[in-house]
Amino acid sequence: SVLKRSSLKLGMIPADGIGKEVLPAAQRVLEALGSAIPKVTFVPLLAGWEEFNARGKALPEETIRVLKEECDGAMFGSVSSPSHKVAGYSSPIVALRKHLDLYANVRPVSSVPGMPGPKVDMVIVRENTECLYIKKEEIHDAPGGGKVAYATRQITSYASERIGRMAFEIALRRAEERKGATEGIWAGKEGKVTIVHKSNVLSVTDGLFRESVRSVYDAEQRFKAVKVEEQLVDSMVYRMFREPEIFDVAVAPNLYGDIISDGAAALVGSLGLVPSINAGDNFVMGEPVHGSAPDIEGKNIANPIASIRSASLLLQSLGFPEAATKINAAVDAVLLEGKYRTPDIGGKSTTTEVTDAILKLL
Ligand code: ATP
Ligand code: MG
Repeated sequence: SVLKRSSLKLGMIPADGIGKEVLPAAQRVLEALGSAIPKVTFVPLLAGWEEFNARGKALPEETIRVLKEECDGAMFGSVSSPSHKVAGYSSPIVALRKHLDLYANVRPVSSVPGMPGPKVDMVIVRENTECLYIKKEEIHDAPGGGKVAYATRQITSYASERIGRMAFEIALRRAEERKGATEGIWAGKEGKVTIVHKSNVLSVTDGLFRESVRSVYDAEQRFKAVKVEEQLVDSMVYRMFREPEIFDVAVAPNLYGDIISDGAAALVGSLGLVPSINAGDNFVMGEPVHGSAPDIEGKNIANPIASIRSASLLLQSLGFPEAATKINAAVDAVLLEGKYRTPDIGGKSTTTEVTDAILKLL
C-alpha cells in the first residue's frame, strides 16, 4: 500500500553476523537523504541467534509489539541459525514474517548497465508462508531397518492466489514504468510473469500452485496487459543461466523461490548485491537476500549494497519512489566507477568505504 506520511518510524533489527555491519550502513544512507524523505526515527530492536543465547528468546515480545504498534516499516539484517536442532530456538525471521503476515518476499535482481556480465533485470516473487517451511518433519524406524524421515509440504489456494496477485501487480507496474524508456533490456516491452513449479512430478501440490496463480490471471481483465507463462523449476534454472534476459517477473513457491534467488544473485556477481522486501498488505520489511555470512563477519568487508538497496525498496513501498531512485542511482554510480568495491565483487574496499562513497553522491 502506498501512503504518504509526514514522518516515519522504522524498526531496525540488525540481528546476527554481518547484519550488524550492513544494517548501520543502510541507516546512514537513509539519514543522508535529508529532506528527500520525511523525518525518520530509527528504533533499534533485538532478535537473533545471539539474542537467544544471551537472553533465551530469538524474537522478544517487545520487538513484535513495537513493530506492530509503533512502526511504519522495518529493516532486518541477517540471522545465523544453528545447523542442528536447538531446543527452544526457531528462526526469528520466519516468525516475524508470520506475526506481521509478510506473505511475499520480493527480490529484484538486476545487473548494472555498463558492468560486465549477463544482462539481468528480473524480479523474483517468492511465497513466504508455506511450502516445506511449515517445518513438519518426522522420523521413524524404517520397516526394513535404518530410519525413514518425512517432510510435509503445504500449498494452499489462498496463499498461492495472493502471491500470484502480487506478481501480476508488480509486472503491471514494471511494464507501466518502462513504457517511455529507451534504455534497459525491458525498455518499451510488454510485461511477463513466469510461474515456476514442478507439476510434472508434484502434480497435486505444484498443480494447485500453478492453477491458483492462473486463476488470478484469468479472473481480472487488467492483468491481460501482461503475459503469463510457466517453467518447470529445473528448466527455470537452466534458462536463467543461459538467457536471464528473457525473465521479467517470476513467481514461485517458497523453496523454489529461495533456490532460484541465490542462483540469480550469482548471475549479477554477488549475494551482497541483492535486496529484498518482505511484504504483506499492512507492513513491509527490507532485508538483504544474503545470510549472516559467518566467514566474513566482523571484518568490515561485507558488501553493504544489498542492505542499502533493501532500504531503497522499503522507501518505494512506503510511497517515496524519488528517494528510492536517488539511492539506486548513487549505488549504480559507485559500482560503475569501480573505485570502491568490496572483495566479493573483486575490490579491496571496506564496508565503510563503499558506504562513504555512496553517501558522498547523496
Ligand atoms: P546463513 O546460514 O546465515 O545463510 P551462510 O554461511 O549460508 O550463512 P550467506 O550469508 O548465505 O552465508 O553467504 C554465502 C556466501 O556469500 C558466503 O561465502 C558469504 O561470505 C558471501 N556473502 C554473503 N553476503 C555477503 C555480503 N553482503 N558481502 C560479501 N559477501 C557475502
Ligand atoms: Mg545462506
